[in-house]
Amino acid sequence: MTQDEPHRWRNIEELVYKDEDGTATFKDVTRRTLFGEAAGDGMEVRYFEVDAGGYTTLEKHEHTHLVIPIKGRGACLVGDEVLKLAMHDLVYVPSWAWHQFRADENEVFGFLCMVKVERDRPTLPTPAELLVIRSVPEVAEFIRV
Ligand code: MN
Repeated sequence: MTQDEPHRWRNIEELVYKDEDGTATFKDVTRRTLFGEAAGDGMEVRYFEVDAGGYTTLEKHEHTHLVIPIKGRGACLVGDEVLKLAMHDLVYVPSWAWHQFRADENEVFGFLCMVKVERDRPTLPTPAELLVIRSVPEVAEFIRV
C-alpha cells in the first residue's frame, strides 16, 4: 500500500484507539490496522500514533506485543522498567507485563505493534495492583491512569 504522506497509508482508515467499555484511561491515541486478519496468517500489524503528551492505556494481558517505533520519540513502561524509545528500537512486551506507551511532551510518537489475531482482552490495574506498580519510584512518576 502506498502512502499519501509519511505514516498515512492509502485506504487504511484511522480508527479510535479503544472503543471498549469506557473505563480505560488514555490520551490522544489513534490506531490503524496495516495488516489485518485476512493478510497476516494469524498476526496483525497495527500502527499507533500518540500526540505529544499523550499516552496509551496502562494494561496487561496474556498475549504479547512486538513494538517498533517509526516516528518521533517516546517512552514506555514494560514490567517495572521505564525505557526511552527512538525510531527503530525494538520492544518486546511479555505475557502479563504491565505496559504503557507515552509520547514526549513536544513530539508525536508513532509505533508499529504486532499481535496475534486471537488474543485475550486487556486487564486494567486494580487499586491494590496500582499500589504495587507505584512501589517503584521511577514507575510511579511515569504512569498515567
Ligand atoms: Mn497491550
